[in-house]
Amino acid sequence: MEEALAADPGEPCPPLAGDLTADVVILGGGYVGMWTAWQLLQRQHGIDIAILEQDICGGGPSGRNGGFTYGLWDDIESLTELFGINRAVDLCVKAAESVEELRRFAEDQGADIWFRRGGNMGVSSSPAQDGAWDGMVQGVRAAGFPDQFVPLTPEQVQEHCRSPIFRAGMFAASQATIQPARLARALRTALLEANVRIYEHSPVSRFGSGNPAVAETPGGSIRAGAAVVAVNAWAAQWKRFKRTVMPRGTYIVLTQPAPEKLEAIGWTGGEGVYDFRTALRYLRTTNDGRIAFGAASARAGMGTGLGPRMRYDEGSIAALIRDLHRMFPEFRGVELDCAWGGPIDVTGLHLPFFGSMGAAANVHYGLGFTGGGVGPSHLAGKILSGLALGADDEFTRLPLVGIQPKRFPPEPLLSPGAAITQAAMVRKDEAEDEGRRANPLVDLIARMPRRLGYRLGP
Ligand SMILES: Cc1cc2nc3c(=O)[nH]c(=O)nc-3n(C[C@H](O)[C@H](O)[C@H](O)COP(=O)(O)OP(=O)(O)OC[C@H]3O[C@@H](n4cnc5c(N)ncnc54)[C@H](O)[C@@H]3O)c2cc1C
Repeated sequence: MEEALAADPGEPCPPLAGDLTADVVILGGGYVGMWTAWQLLQRQHGIDIAILEQDICGGGPSGRNGGFTYGLWDDIESLTELFGINRAVDLCVKAAESVEELRRFAEDQGADIWFRRGGNMGVSSSPAQDGAWDGMVQGVRAAGFPDQFVPLTPEQVQEHCRSPIFRAGMFAASQATIQPARLARALRTALLEANVRIYEHSPVSRFGSGNPAVAETPGGSIRAGAAVVAVNAWAAQWKRFKRTVMPRGTYIVLTQPAPEKLEAIGWTGGEGVYDFRTALRYLRTTNDGRIAFGAASARAGMGTGLGPRMRYDEGSIAALIRDLHRMFPEFRGVELDCAWGGPIDVTGLHLPFFGSMGAAANVHYGLGFTGGGVGPSHLAGKILSGLALGADDEFTRLPLVGIQPKRFPPEPLLSPGAAITQAAMVRKDEAEDEGRRANPLVDLIARMPRRLGYRLGP
C-alpha cells in the first residue's frame, strides 16, 4: 500500500511538455481510457502508453458518477433485436463478468472501492411507470437468464426500502455499487505503478489520425502507432461524432450521514434503487449512511452543450432535493452535504459503440455509454486494447464493434429539437409524478424520439 501511495501521491501528474512518442496514445483518462491502458498492459507487457487528460484522471464522470455497477442486461431487448439472441447473450454475459472482475481488480490492488453487491431495484414511482420492466424481464427469460431481473410486488419493494410513492418493481441481485472516485484513483495508481505515462491538465487541441497518429496539446505532442479516443460526451465536439453522441447533464445530491433514518425506512441492504421516469432517478445508500440521489437534468434546453451547467445546475439540483423529500419524507430534516453533475454521452439506440478510423484504421474509439458506463467501461478496455493491438478475438468481434450508431438530426434542427422534446419529457414526468396524464400535445412530443426510431424517452 505504501508503494501505491508513492506512485499516486494525490497530486496531478505534470502536463505534457515537448514532442514525444508512444506505442499507444489514449485521449481521455476516465474509466474507458484507464481500463484500456490496463488491458493493454495485460496483453503486452512493457508496452509504452501515454494518457492525455484535460482534467485529472477521473475528474470527469468516471470520478463523479452514481456508482451503479452492472453490465448490459438492461438492453437485452434492443440487443436481441439488433444482433439476434446468441450474440446478444454472449455480449451480456461478457459485460456482466466485468462486475466481478472490477471487484477482483480492486482487491488485487489493495484498494477499497466500497464494492457492495447489494443488487439494484427498479421501481415504479407513479402509475404511468407500472410494468415498465416487463420487456426486460421477458428479455432475460427468453435469453435463459431469468434470475437477472426478478419482478417484485409492492410489498416486496417496501421490504427493500420504504417510500410512500414506491409501487411494484423488479430486482437484479447480481448488480453492485462502488464509490466511483475510489475506483478511478485505484486505476490511476495501478497505471502509474506500471509506468504508464499520464499527462494531466493536457487537453488535446488537435488530432491527426494518420500513421503515426498525432495528438497535440498546448504543451507538446505525442506521435503513436495507435490511438484510442475515450473522451465520453466531449466526442460531440468532434465532427465525426457530433451527430452520434449527444451530451446530457445528470446530477446528484448527497445527504449528510443519517444511518438511523435509513434504518427507519428499512433501507439497509445496500441496494441501489432507480425508477422508470423518462428522466430516471437513481438513488443509493453509501457506506457511511447517506443517500446519494441522482437524476437526469430537469431543465430543457441543455441537450446539446458541455458548458459549466453540466457540472452544477441549480434548477436541476433544486428538483432533485424536492424529489428526494417526496420520496423519503423522513429525510426532510437531514442536511445536504453537496451536489454535483456531469455529462453523459447519449446515443440514439442507448448503446455504446466501438470502431476504428483513419486511413490506417489505427485510431480506435469507444463511446456512447449513455449513463451506464461504470461496468461496461471495463469490457470497453478489453475491446479497445484488442483493437489497438490489431487482435482478432472474442472481444474485438463483439457486435458493438463496427456498428453504425443511429445519427441524430443535423443542426440547426438538433438543438431546438432536443430542447423541445426534453421540455415535453420533463412536463410529462411532472404530470405523471402527480398522478395525472400529460396533456396530449406534450405526450405526443415526448414520444416523438421513439416514433422516429430512437430508444430515448417514453
Ligand atoms: C452524475 C453522473 C452519474 C452517473 N451515474 C452512473 C452510474 O451510477 N452507473 C453507471 O454505469 N454510469 C453512470 N454514469 C456514467 C458513467 O460515469 C460513464 O458512462 C463513464 O464514467 C464513462 O467513462 P469514460 O471514460 O467514457 O468517460 P469520462 O469519465 O468522462 O472520461 C473521459 C475523459 O476524457 C477527458 N477529455 C475529454 N476531451 C478531452 C480532450 N480533448 N483532451 C484530453 N482529455 C479529454 C475528460 O476530461 C474525461 O476525464 C454517470 C455519469 C454522471 C455524470
